[in-house]
Amino acid sequence: MARKFFVGGNFKANGSLKSIQAIVDNLNNAKLDPNVEVVISPPSLFLLPTAEKVSNNVKVAAQNVFDKPDGAWTGELTVKMLVDHGIEWVILGHSERRTIFKESSEFIADKTKAALDSGLSVILCIGETLEEREAGRTIDVCCSQLQAVVDKISDWSKVVIAYEPVWAIGTGKVATTEQAQDAHGALRKWLAEKISPEVAEATRILYGGSVNEKNCKDLATQPDIDGFLVGGASLKPAFVDIINANL
Ligand code: PGA
Repeated sequence: MARKFFVGGNFKANGSLKSIQAIVDNLNNAKLDPNVEVVISPPSLFLLPTAEKVSNNVKVAAQNVFDKPDGAWTGELTVKMLVDHGIEWVILGHSERRTIFKESSEFIADKTKAALDSGLSVILCIGETLEEREAGRTIDVCCSQLQAVVDKISDWSKVVIAYEPVWAIGTGKVATTEQAQDAHGALRKWLAEKISPEVAEATRILYGGSVNEKNCKDLATQPDIDGFLVGGASLKPAFVDIINANL
């Protein structure tokens, strides 16, 4: 079965009730490609108002979740809380969590397992730094980030992988179409070898890192690019053009 194109919007720590309402209004009033799955991820404080207001079949994702049940974890949200509020998706392993908040691949794998065990779907982010790319280690780094998850889960049907080169995130420096396709192709090959050809064929691999309404069309033509995880541009009206990249 063909992989359904997927576009995620990661608002990061941006927005107010007013600005997020404007994004939601824009999405609700737009004509979105019906063949695209759309998930937006506001900061946690805005998850509920966003989920209540957004229509057009757009889903909502948390930007993080803890791997333990409810308890003494000051500042954290648990999987149960997200499920209780009807939130169906969570972004895990974003490079900002890995670098700024020092989350290890093992911790991210534990969170992925906890989320999947409770029925959430996961956008699992991986990606290399510029230093790692220049050292020729792109695929090794991404695969070791994936391996930590392979070690802990067996059902990949609710996982979407987002390949986001760290050097392309928020920098305006998008990977070339060839660089992105090369990485996606290599990751799919690795999934086929390490998990199964079926999982490799069915799992969506998104590209993320300075995607905008201009560069998205070319990236979307590539055989192994199944959508985008969009940061900065998801806050703008042009996010709709990225969702409609294939039209
Ligand atoms: P960007 O962020 O589109 O602003 O580069 C992407 C991301 O961090 O997911």
